[in-house]
Amino acid sequence: TCGFVAIVGRPNVGKSTLLNRILGQKVSITSRRPQTTRHQVMGIKTEGEVQFIYVDTPGIHIQTRDRNKAINHFMNQAAVQALRDVDCVVFIIDRTRWSDEDQVVLQRLEHVAAPVILAVNKVDRLQDKASLLPWLQGLGARRDFAAIVPISAKQGSNVAELEAEVAKHL
Ligand code: GDP
Ligand code: MG
Repeated sequence: TCGFVAIVGRPNVGKSTLLNRILGQKVSITSRRPQTTRHQVMGIKTEGEVQFIYVDTPGIHIQTRDRNKAINHFMNQAAVQALRDVDCVVFIIDRTRWSDEDQVVLQRLEHVAAPVILAVNKVDRLQDKASLLPWLQGLGARRDFAAIVPISAKQGSNVAELEAEVAKHL
């Protein structure tokens, strides 16, 4: 079996960090600066009979008035293309925030037929741990997510659980 999994989210939520964590090596560039990933980065992980193919998409984001408009457009197009024919989408947000940019990403996923798993990343940096559970419970109202999984891509916490959720759809 072979499965395509797209990793999507606004810039800086930790897409590249997650891909590197899953693959156990540094194949994708991570940076504090948004938009470091200009091109799609693919990674393949073989686990028994199952082959996962992850596509780290350039960030989908709101286009601004800046000079890089053409690049922004290209990146948005590439991100949307990557969502065609995937078996599963991992949509990442940053802790207990929901920004306008996250909303834009969610809108882009509206017509995606594949199951969407929501990963709530950077929980290691969460100040108020008690706020996490009610936040996770409320997220289901935004879309019928296949699963909602809190993770720390950086520390690796709960990433195996996320991969197990992904594996259900391949
Ligand atoms: P991308 O733009 O979505 O690909 O985001 P990156 O993977 O490049 O990560 C952006 C920044 O967030 C980097 O400085 C990462 O080290 C940091 N980061 C990513 N995941 C985590 C996490 O789980 N915890 C913490 N504390 N930082 C993270
Ligand atoms: Mg990246």
